[in-house]
Amino acid sequence: MYYVSTRDNHVKMTAAQAIAQGLSRDGGLLTPCEIPKLTEEALGSMVGMSYQQRAVAIMKLFLEEFTTEELESFANRAYERFDDPRVAPIREVDSATQCLELWHGPTSAFKDMALQMLPYLLSASLVKTEEEKTVCILVATSGDTGKAALEGFRDVERTKILVFYPKDGVSSIQGLQMQTQEGENVGVCAVYGNFDDAQTGVKLIFSDEQLRKNLEERGFFLSSANSINWGRVLPQLVYYVSAYCDLLKAGRIKLGEPMNVCVPTGNFGNILAAFYAKEMGVPVGKLICASNNNNVLTDFIRTGVYDRNRTFYTTMSPSMDILVSSNLERLLYTLAGQDDALVKSYMESLNRDGRYEIRGDLKEQLGDLFYAGFCDDAQTQTVIREMWESHGYLIDPHTAVAFDVLQQYRQETGDDRVTLVVSTASPFKFCDSVLGALGVSHFAVGTAILEQLTALTGETAPAPLAGLKNKTVRFNDSVSKSQMTDVVLDMLK
Ligand SMILES: *Cc1c(COP(=O)(O)O)cnc(C)c1O
Repeated sequence: MYYVSTRDNHVKMTAAQAIAQGLSRDGGLLTPCEIPKLTEEALGSMVGMSYQQRAVAIMKLFLEEFTTEELESFANRAYERFDDPRVAPIREVDSATQCLELWHGPTSAFKDMALQMLPYLLSASLVKTEEEKTVCILVATSGDTGKAALEGFRDVERTKILVFYPKDGVSSIQGLQMQTQEGENVGVCAVYGNFDDAQTGVKLIFSDEQLRKNLEERGFFLSSANSINWGRVLPQLVYYVSAYCDLLKAGRIKLGEPMNVCVPTGNFGNILAAFYAKEMGVPVGKLICASNNNNVLTDFIRTGVYDRNRTFYTTMSPSMDILVSSNLERLLYTLAGQDDALVKSYMESLNRDGRYEIRGDLKEQLGDLFYAGFCDDAQTQTVIREMWESHGYLIDPHTAVAFDVLQQYRQETGDDRVTLVVSTASPFKFCDSVLGALGVSHFAVGTAILEQLTALTGETAPAPLAGLKNKTVRFNDSVSKSQMTDVVLDMLK
């Protein structure tokens, strides 16, 4: 199987090349040319497997030039640092509402699911492609990706990692997590502006030919750990397949019976993985796309018009404060039957006018597959409080957005099918919002806020967050968007 650019089908690569390179030179996303199928028997046979074994079975289908032994060793090491042996446990809210907790990794957000795996995939890809240079991973983060990538790549040989985050777009705990990052090959820098500014800055660096040559002479090349890298999306397919197996095992569904999936969405990476799992043959019913006030995807799914020309809101679910959802491009490519010219023209008009409108047949498919809704901050807080009071379940603001949109979906459609609600972060990552939702108005300063949430709820903070108080701040710089190139050059001297 090979990988192609969503903007040019002539660009063809192996999996290792696609993972090593991250993004196609034409700006397109490298995407498998076909989605392998899982039969019902194959699915059923995974019920008795561990998470790691399921990961090997699924990833092998997409990574032909990787051996099973390689993938086994990656999977065993990648999920070692998780605080739950099931890796991605499901918590039952009620029999029709099953919450998939994706935040048991070292940085307490779902990004660990992929970013603990990506360094192994990437290192092996560099060997397979006979790359001699050192890779520098550049990341623009809305908060969680940066920390997860730093933890994944820290002290990985022949890699450097540099993370840019929006100065005022991350929670205090998220900021501290990054500023205290350990490792010899890491760099962290704040950018004035919002996530889109940081992401645009990184995209400009990637397209800067002169900089590329300059870095090559210094023995470096740039790659990405953003969810545009296929090596990020693939490990995310695994937990949808795995969750389906777990629901089968628990007797919550029968083989072949569909589950809905409800995902709090930003860059469209997580929900895209659910779409691909459905394409593979996992019985997935509706894909429910949950947004916060930055509801560009809600409008898109409802109308077929993608329009980023709108107010940007800073919300209490910052990892979804995004106006350009990069991974949507892969969905369009697949829905349009790999029509690269069409995708290219949409992306050109997005760049030029900030908007595009998809063809009628694509709109129809989109409407059949997806439901979309959004939830503002006030309602997010209400959901956090209600979930705590009625179920004793403490959830973070991103997860609360998903629960609210699921509620909207059920009210609108009456569909009461089993739904997998994806929980993307530990509530302890967003203590101030969660405390506020529970009626607290005076917040402890710094890491003491973790203890404040514990005192109120009796829940314990994940160990890596609790350990933050003993760490020293190593990175405190802030730059403007135009200075980001200098930061790269400075790090790769
Ligand atoms: C990244 C993130 C999201 C959004 O995921 P996408 O793949 O960008 O759609 C949602 N919640 C949390 C906590 C995240 O870190």
